[in-house]
Amino acid sequence: MANPLYDGLFGIHAGKTTPFLQLLDGSTLTHQDFLAMGAQIANVMAQLGLKPGDRVAVQTEKSPEALALYAACAQSGLVFLPLNTAYTVDELSYFIENSGASLIVCDGKSETALGKIAHGLGARIETLNADGSGTLMAQARVMPASFATVERDRDDLAAFLYTSGTTGRSKGAMLTQGNLLSNAQTLVREWRFSSEDVLLHALPIFHTHGLFVATNVTLAAGSSMIFMPKFDLDQVISHLPSASCLMGVPTFYTRLLGDDRFTKDLTAHMRLFVSGSAPLLAETHVQFEERTGHRILERYGMTETNMNTSNPFDGERRAGTVGFPLPGVELKITNPETGETLPNGEVGQIEVRGPNVFKGYWQMPEKTAAELRQDGFFITGDLGKIDEDGYVHIVGRNKDLIISGGYNIYPKEIELVLDEQPGVLESAVIGVPHPDFGETVLGVIVPLNGAKPDTDAMMDSVQQSLARFKHPRKLVILDELPRNTMGKVQKNVLRDQYKGMFA
Ligand code: ATP
Ligand code: MG
Repeated sequence: MANPLYDGLFGIHAGKTTPFLQLLDGSTLTHQDFLAMGAQIANVMAQLGLKPGDRVAVQTEKSPEALALYAACAQSGLVFLPLNTAYTVDELSYFIENSGASLIVCDGKSETALGKIAHGLGARIETLNADGSGTLMAQARVMPASFATVERDRDDLAAFLYTSGTTGRSKGAMLTQGNLLSNAQTLVREWRFSSEDVLLHALPIFHTHGLFVATNVTLAAGSSMIFMPKFDLDQVISHLPSASCLMGVPTFYTRLLGDDRFTKDLTAHMRLFVSGSAPLLAETHVQFEERTGHRILERYGMTETNMNTSNPFDGERRAGTVGFPLPGVELKITNPETGETLPNGEVGQIEVRGPNVFKGYWQMPEKTAAELRQDGFFITGDLGKIDEDGYVHIVGRNKDLIISGGYNIYPKEIELVLDEQPGVLESAVIGVPHPDFGETVLGVIVPLNGAKPDTDAMMDSVQQSLARFKHPRKLVILDELPRNTMGKVQKNVLRDQYKGMFA
């Protein structure tokens, strides 16, 4: 009997009383406690009549029980389908119906509303609240603490994970056991994780970053985590002294740098800071090193592929790049029109192939066929280049490319110039409809706290550094950029907001 994902991440800890989850109330869940909780939940799901391959849709707050539900799904051969806690009931109904889930696990607060959807689908519904109470655990607690692991193959589905919806409606990515396990094991080796490590976990567990990168790596290495319900600056600062690693989105790092308590002393014992999910400004990387002496390790991945590239653990972690393809992952830059591989230094679409690449989008055969080539390369939707030393640079998303008067314009190139102007915190450059050029460039500027940047002076400066066709037609000032729950800038929201400006 074998179940690669369960055996490789969970089963290896059977009987171990080593710490796995350190909770903010001071209690600790050992590996064995956690496995027992997972097995109890697996017994509940078997009793509810769920069969291997069935989908379990989950929208709950972050809790040890919610994580144990993931373990239970792996052990039972069920497909785990975590959903963003920010989704409204209307949004959820799409995901739940679309996935054909047999079981919905939700917070008690949503039970009535989701119950109607569940009823329509013939699905079961159980509740799991932030404090672990609810119908799921009430049944689980009286179940045996062991469960006969269901046999699975590396190619069997383990999870449907919905993309962040930054460029449009979220898509369900079908991930296999092999996708998840191979990536976790690679990252353990690349980032030198061991049972000595304590990861400060402040990310959500409905997204690939907090679930498959942070949690799977911790499990595969036998490390433990300080498990926080969310990113809370005070809590993160007070628990850093007990941690050895932190994984975060760039906003974690800018927020830490904005606090005077975040010092070299506070971080002296830390082994590793990892950043991903959105671009880390080169400036943040530099400031972080100046403040702490640590160089943040930036990596690049996505829901469909887990992680693709990483800056090196040993060797130079280069600011503004996402490092090298991970072992086993092939990455090439291609011409979007012809699909031909481009030479190093040229910007094109990023394509990846490897054991990490998903099986396709759930019930979207046309989209799958358009993005996943026959030969296994996945067209990521990101644009980038490989420099002379082999480091991968991300230039932006294909959908954010501006085509003005027939010229291709990469927003990032202009953003880098705008970001350097006095009084500017950050910027976003977008294409908006224009009667003569099809699209034209609009720069959105967020000032530094209290600053009033001079947009005329900024225009002069941009005109000196960039070719004429790249000059923003206008610069507008905003207090902050629209971001989704993963801290990603939503350029589609900005495009919508300013679409009538020149039309
Ligand atoms: P959707 O596909 O629904 O539009 P999304 O692409 O934001 O949403 P995710 O799968 O969560 O959903 O995010 C993956 C994307 O995040 C990548 O394709 C890339 O654009 C971006 N990303 C991840 N890591 C980095 C990084 N280190 N630097 C720049 N961009 C990154
Ligand atoms: Mg995407």
